[in-house]
Amino acid sequence: MASGGDASVNLEDVPSLNLMTELLRRMKCASKPDKRLILIGPPGSGKGTQSPIIKDEYCLCHLATGDMLRAAVATKTPLGVKAKEAMEKGELVSDDLVVGIIDDAIKKPSCQKGFILDGFPRTVVQAEKLDDMLAKQGTKIDKVLNFSIDDAILEERITGRWIHPSSGRTYHSKFAPPKVPGVDDVTGEPLIQRKDDTAAVLKSRLEAFHRQTEPVVDYYSKKGAVTNLHADKPTEEVTKEVKMVLS
Ligand code: ADP
Ligand code: AMP
Repeated sequence: MASGGDASVNLEDVPSLNLMTELLRRMKCASKPDKRLILIGPPGSGKGTQSPIIKDEYCLCHLATGDMLRAAVATKTPLGVKAKEAMEKGELVSDDLVVGIIDDAIKKPSCQKGFILDGFPRTVVQAEKLDDMLAKQGTKIDKVLNFSIDDAILEERITGRWIHPSSGRTYHSKFAPPKVPGVDDVTGEPLIQRKDDTAAVLKSRLEAFHRQTEPVVDYYSKKGAVTNLHADKPTEEVTKEVKMVLS
């Protein structure tokens, strides 16, 4: 989840260890090259699992439109009210709604060194609008990581997924189990399963992916920006591939 600055914080009240940790992080980040990345892949292909690792390594912000939309649905904002029905059915929400939230989000200070777009763009129209937005800022997408994986593997991944909502930490009952079932390792808080993480809704989500999102891979392939990953491998091996591609 992206974190923003709070101008009302008195730095004298912040514990020294936190200040030092943040200072060290900023010094490390200053030497990192800017990166603007897109992660594309079907639901369950591992985008959310790899994103925090890439984010920490390159000091980027992680923008997951699915997380942003779920937060809007939970707090019943006008955006959430408009998005809810499509999300429950496993269909895409309208391009204008998601383009608006990304346009605002990439301007945040936490995205200064660049960003990881996870789950966006999901249509060619979104990709074109994103490229226009970036062109206005004099930047462009550096790399698109395509999480290649067979549909057959995804049902087990999706139905076994458990999430710690406030941190975005993701577990899997078989592949990445928490120490105590149903409980977050770090906070001890309960884990949840997403309403749309069922075999039935996965069918529509996959249908939307093949029909509307795969053309985005072709769109960026023509620009020479796409690298394919073997997303069916174990998590650590996918991480190695990601690091090789980005180094
Ligand atoms: P996405 O963000 O692409 O929808 P996630 O990263 O949330 O997918 O992964 C879906 C589920 O599969 C999670 O429960 C996660 O722990 C698990 N998972 C992710 N990558 C792998 C992998 N390479 N091998 C096995 N399980 C994985
Ligand atoms: P995700 O968390 O990426 O699996 O997304 C969950 C749901 O949010 C999707 O099934 C869509 O309904 C909606 N959604 C997320 N990102 C987008 C997007 N870029 N365009 C349209 N709908 C989206």
